[in-house]
Amino acid sequence: MLTDYHLHLRPDDAGSDAERYFTVANAERYRTVAEERGIAELGCAEHVYRFVQALDVWRHPLWRESAVDDIDDYAGFVREQTDLKLGIEADFVAGREDRMQALLAARDWDYVVGSVHFVGEHAVDHDGYEVWDHRSQRPDALWKRYFETLGEAARSGLFDILAHPDLIKIWGPRRPLPGGDLRRFYDLAMDGIAESQIAIELSTAGLRKPVGELYPAPAFLQMCLDAGCPVALSSDAHVPGDVGRDYEAALELLERLGVGDLAVFERRERRLEAIG
Ligand SMILES: [Zn+2]
Ligand SMILES: [Zn+2]
Repeated sequence: MLTDYHLHLRPDDAGSDAERYFTVANAERYRTVAEERGIAELGCAEHVYRFVQALDVWRHPLWRESAVDDIDDYAGFVREQTDLKLGIEADFVAGREDRMQALLAARDWDYVVGSVHFVGEHAVDHDGYEVWDHRSQRPDALWKRYFETLGEAARSGLFDILAHPDLIKIWGPRRPLPGGDLRRFYDLAMDGIAESQIAIELSTAGLRKPVGELYPAPAFLQMCLDAGCPVALSSDAHVPGDVGRDYEAALELLERLGVGDLAVFERRERRLEAIG
């Protein structure tokens, strides 16, 4: 069975309001594409910072300008009006673990996708709050801090799935890249990953970004597999046409690495299902 658990029912742009996108007809568009691509298990994971309740966790300027919708309306819509699993993409905000835990524990998710989008106040993947403006000539220091934070995110126990694990590479050659064997950075996250046994997201989204690669890099995924972690497969689609996009590449990698099962979630319980 194939999954696509990291779906957004709307683009990230301002103006993509809940009323327009959290509709039965829109959810059906995602389901239709999934059926065409042989994906049975679908779930959405809207960004937590689009909801006003996230401001109890963090008041970063991006969050303040984005927090418009009600998280319980979203959860109610998914549960009552769609056949999608109910997830959320929650940021790891260092120092705010208790607050995020309170937000997450108050709702009945099938799974929580955990993301490191920020290192300190600066965003890895958002050119409005660019980390690179501040550390542009120091890719090694930034990568080190990113992967240390990723390990903390895993270890926090807040999340079921570790999203786009090497997101820091998103810009590819458009930003400074460290040289040499990148496993010295991945290694910084491995204690947290191994301890938590979190599911590792294999995401095809990186193929649609400047880097043009799957997240994570095969060497990083291999390290996570060696640590005993299962894989969760997702596209991070923000439009219906991206559901299950480029899954051939992901499945080829999983086959090459000997992965025959995927993590499946229900009410935050995990089991493995054969890819088949
Ligand atoms: Zn993300
Ligand atoms: Zn996402």
